[in-house]
Amino acid sequence: MCGIVGIVAHRPVNQAIYDALTVLQHRGQDAAGISTDDNGTLCSRKALGLVRDVFQERHMLRLQGNVGIGHTRYPTAGCSSSSESQPFYVNSPYGICLAHNGNLTNAVELKELLVNHDHRHLNTGSDTEALLNVFADELQRQNGRSLTPKAVFAAVAGVHRRCRGGYAVVAMIIGHGIVAFRDPDGIRPVCLGRRDTPQGPEWIVASESVALDALDFELVRDILPGEAVFIERNGRLHSHPCGGPRSYTPCIFEFVYFSRPDSIIDRISVYKARLRMGERLAEKILRERPDHDIDVVIPIPDSSRTSALEVAHRLGVKYREGFIKNRYIGRTFIMPGQEIRRQSVRRKLNAIDLEFRDKTVLLVDDSIVRGTTSRQIIEMAREAGARRVYFASASPPVRYPNVYGIDMPAAGELVAAGRSDAEVAQYVGADWLVYQDLDDLVRAVRYDNGDITQFDTSCFSGEYVTGDITPEYLARLEAERCDDARAHRDHAAAVADDEMGDGDTVAVRPRVGAV
Ligand code: AMP
Repeated sequence: MCGIVGIVAHRPVNQAIYDALTVLQHRGQDAAGISTDDNGTLCSRKALGLVRDVFQERHMLRLQGNVGIGHTRYPTAGCSSSSESQPFYVNSPYGICLAHNGNLTNAVELKELLVNHDHRHLNTGSDTEALLNVFADELQRQNGRSLTPKAVFAAVAGVHRRCRGGYAVVAMIIGHGIVAFRDPDGIRPVCLGRRDTPQGPEWIVASESVALDALDFELVRDILPGEAVFIERNGRLHSHPCGGPRSYTPCIFEFVYFSRPDSIIDRISVYKARLRMGERLAEKILRERPDHDIDVVIPIPDSSRTSALEVAHRLGVKYREGFIKNRYIGRTFIMPGQEIRRQSVRRKLNAIDLEFRDKTVLLVDDSIVRGTTSRQIIEMAREAGARRVYFASASPPVRYPNVYGIDMPAAGELVAAGRSDAEVAQYVGADWLVYQDLDDLVRAVRYDNGDITQFDTSCFSGEYVTGDITPEYLARLEAERCDDARAHRDHAAAVADDEMGDGDTVAVRPRVGAV
């Protein structure tokens, strides 16, 4: 997952983009980047690390201009290398920078065509570089002398024809403005905001509305599936349904885990959706165990808090913060893969024994993915003195890989793949385990927006809305995502970064494009 933002203003946007990235930091902590257009000169800074570490004052001072885009990265199939930090840049046509959130499911075929047919050079394995080159190629084909909204929208329609998967994109066309668009199924989110000034309106596009709140922009609306908006540098806004919509199927995992609770996505409050998940989960608990002996509900911080609160309320039992999270956890230097994850839980969470001693506790989490966290936490609850430990997941069993941009392990590493609920309970060491039903999850999220009849629920159901996911594709993904493959890639990237140094730091390039 990643966070994207783009701003067109009547004043410098460097600080505003930085601030937006800090509130989108939960969407990716691996790398960050900002590109701005200083009257036709591209200014760029991107590197590995958290937003606060990547941008120093000297970088910010050089990121001049009233138009810019930014990105925080969470690598999916890619690796942790600085050369794959975003935004990416191509110098023709016009000079385009592009950042994206999502995953292209036909990236291999696209890259092959770009290299062998369009004779474009690709320097990395990143989907984003492929997407940028497709967009650049499509824009190049528009032949016109000047860049018109019509040409931009025709280029986006070309991207939709050629690219498959889930993607939300922001691109800056140097000297012209910003383009943002969303895949034709609306899987990945992106919204539009407006702020009025004496000089005219200023515009923002961002992955989540929380970025708009932080900067005093009003949420205008979500960008619709397949739609593109083009905001000229003078603040004039154009929009067009370039590719569809084919369906309106937002990723349900945004509501379960990924997004901040204070965001509104596709007119649905993430916070309210999580409360309703708690409501429905409690109803299921009461159906299955009308005479339950739960003394206390304890959330696994942070994302399950909202649901857990409502579970406790509906069950009529106490809600207690039994685990305290260390917000300042440091780096782990050795042991990639499963071992690192096992130990990191203990470094991250500490139990308050008094809340567990001699009690039957119901632990609530938003999801169970590998089961490593749950297993560790249940062990901690027992060590803290719990008599019985029950476990509830606010979402159904995760049994299938996510192919639209959420970083999930290989299917073989998902604890619920090929296991019954009772077997998962045994694996994680719970006395009883209860999962949310998929229908209940969908109802809980859909409640605020009846226009959305379907969500991308693929990691729970195995149904992929884009219709192009073959067993061969999933096998390739499995090979890319398994722990061994990841460890190998991370090592190779670390060596490359050490050898190259921090190559893409400040790049103030010569003037490009028209003003
Ligand atoms: P585990 O079952 O050990 O893989 O951990 C599940 C926990 O990871 C849950 O508490 C979720 O909050 C969190 N989680 C769910 N999905 C993801 C993801 N894609 N990346 C990182 N953490 C996640």
